[in-house]
Amino acid sequence: MTAAAMSPAGVPTRVVIAEDEAIIRLDLKEILQSAGYDVAGETARGDEAVALVEQLEPDLVILDVKMPGMDGVRAAREISSRHRAAVVVLTAFSQRDLIEEARDAGVAAYLVKPFRREELLPAIAGVLAQCRQEWAIDEEVQSLGGGPADGDAAEDKIATRRVVEEAKAVLMEQYGMGEPDAFAFVQRTAMQTRSRMRDVARRVVEGELRPS
Ligand SMILES: [Mg+2]
Repeated sequence: MTAAAMSPAGVPTRVVIAEDEAIIRLDLKEILQSAGYDVAGETARGDEAVALVEQLEPDLVILDVKMPGMDGVRAAREISSRHRAAVVVLTAFSQRDLIEEARDAGVAAYLVKPFRREELLPAIAGVLAQCRQEWAIDEEVQSLGGGPADGDAAEDKIATRRVVEEAKAVLMEQYGMGEPDAFAFVQRTAMQTRSRMRDVARRVVEGELRPS
């Protein structure tokens, strides 16, 4: 089982797959299951993908672009506006306009078909790691409460993300940490010291705090 296949809560990462080519859908499902993912739902239609996400609340959604019912980019837009899930789009070709549209629709990554297991799993793990970091920062900013205006919360998120990225770079370059471990260090230290990731990250960047 790969680490990405496990959520931070210690349960398998839930996935919904939407792909109208049955062979590719089966292939995807088998690859993901063999790596420890929980494929909670699958469909050949874009509109059903949106409904399945509503019902199953997966962590990860994989959408083909060309599907009956609704295309993958529109489905991605509907899903990302309502749910916290990592959305990955599958395309048969890399098209610049499609990539831009997909990014605009909240797609975290796109993968080009045909994919190989050795490429697919690391790509998905990377997307999940990135999304989980974003979610952790969102949660921290939201949990601060005190009713900051939306603008303040948005600025807070940007500032937090920026300093956390800087701290990760320091931990990776100076302490040889891998990217996920660097983030985990910031997150864990914040939890243990009851401080904000933003403050922990700043102390790392300023050299006041170092991993033991
Ligand atoms: Mg298709």
